[in-house]
Amino acid sequence: MRISIFGMGYVGVVTGACFAKNGHDVLGVDIDPHKVRRLQQGKSPVLEEGIDELVGAMVASGRLTATEDHGRAVQESDVSLVSVGTPGLANGSLDLRAVLAVVRQIASALAQKSGAHSIVIRSTLLPGTTARLILPELEKVSGKRHGTDFFLSYNPEFLREGSSLKDFYDPPFTVLGAQSPEAFKVASVLYKEVRAPLHQVAIETAEALKYVSNCFHGLKVAFANEIGVIMQALGVDSHPLMALACQDTKLNISAAYLRPGFAFGGSCLPKDLRALNYVAKERDVEAPLLGNLLRSNQAHVERALRLVLETGQRDVALLGLSFKAGTDDLRESPLVILAEALIGKGIRLKIYDPHVNMSALTGANRRYIEQELPHIGSLLGNDLEDVLAHAKVVVVGCAKHCAPERLARWARTGTLIDLDRVPESVARAAATYRGISW
Ligand code: NAD
Repeated sequence: MRISIFGMGYVGVVTGACFAKNGHDVLGVDIDPHKVRRLQQGKSPVLEEGIDELVGAMVASGRLTATEDHGRAVQESDVSLVSVGTPGLANGSLDLRAVLAVVRQIASALAQKSGAHSIVIRSTLLPGTTARLILPELEKVSGKRHGTDFFLSYNPEFLREGSSLKDFYDPPFTVLGAQSPEAFKVASVLYKEVRAPLHQVAIETAEALKYVSNCFHGLKVAFANEIGVIMQALGVDSHPLMALACQDTKLNISAAYLRPGFAFGGSCLPKDLRALNYVAKERDVEAPLLGNLLRSNQAHVERALRLVLETGQRDVALLGLSFKAGTDDLRESPLVILAEALIGKGIRLKIYDPHVNMSALTGANRRYIEQELPHIGSLLGNDLEDVLAHAKVVVVGCAKHCAPERLARWARTGTLIDLDRVPESVARAAATYRGISW
């Protein structure tokens, strides 16, 4: 392909040189004449392991060159990638001036171009920016139509400075946010040589992925460091400890617990978190991340409470009560906390949980309900149909407790508040549907 890349910074130079190596013709564009000159001389304007040699070889081969002329770059390419900087301002918002300037330059060049052109945004942008800001600007300035005259997509990159050449050839995946099959086709040609799965997603999802990844990486570093300082205070060497923790690829380093849903609870997590925070405080170790996890969890329960109260309805059914599906353990169940809050607000609540059935419960669990939660025990219904018939609002704490077809039938006339992500067919059937975090 003939590719123009706007912004010859770390991302632009590395991607440009790697695409050239994969056989594409690449024209780098920058407003900085010094960077353009260096590239024209076969030298990299950025410092990165292996990049000088690669840029030198690609410029010598004629497959990589550079210009300050935006118009020429659009005319002489089939696809334009945008990788100018989007620096953060003091208040956390992004400075979009460079990206908007480039978009206007590309759009005015497009106005003069006959034939279709693809534009791929690679700069990091908050979700919604491409559709709300970039697309209208491209159409306004070019006078052309998206989907017929040009194709816009968002392609986040996951290069790390210091190992970006390696990362380019060995990414976890390639992600393309696009609406049209044409845009996806361009990406499949661009990335033909890169051996990684190619995912086509909504543009906003592709934009958001960068933030999810970077925030998660930050979270991991902060977590490891807080564990480190607490363990240091307790005389435990954090390195063999974390190396062992990382060997658990079933629960620790895995997709487990990374599915947005309701709050955590049970007899272990909250108790163990409190204990670790207690010893941290006792030893004057500051651990704000671990110290705020229970607060974050509580905020999530309050979110669910608000969702129910906002319906203005008083007759509510709660599906699920134990702290997770398949158990009758109610200790520190966030659904019990939610139920108590709803009762406190005067909601007429009925609860259905096939695993927490008073007539079937025996021993410690029965005693626990009778002694600790008598107000909850009396609201438990044994019959799902009775519980549904009573309700104007159903709160799904555990989607497994009701067959999707039955829930969809009920939901046609009621409000469904989903804390567990019911199947798509159920959500679509509902007269009113609210997901707690989707
Ligand atoms: P950078 O600041 O190194 O380079 C940006 C380049 O764009 C500069 O050379 C600048 O002169 C040029 N530029 C500005 N306005 C221009 C215009 N109108 N026309 C042509 N060129 C113009 O930026 P970077 O580090 O390569 O990052 C680019 C984007 O990628 C950012 O949104 C960043 O958040 C994201 N990103 C960077 C990295 C990284 O490792 N550096 C990793 C992931 C994502």
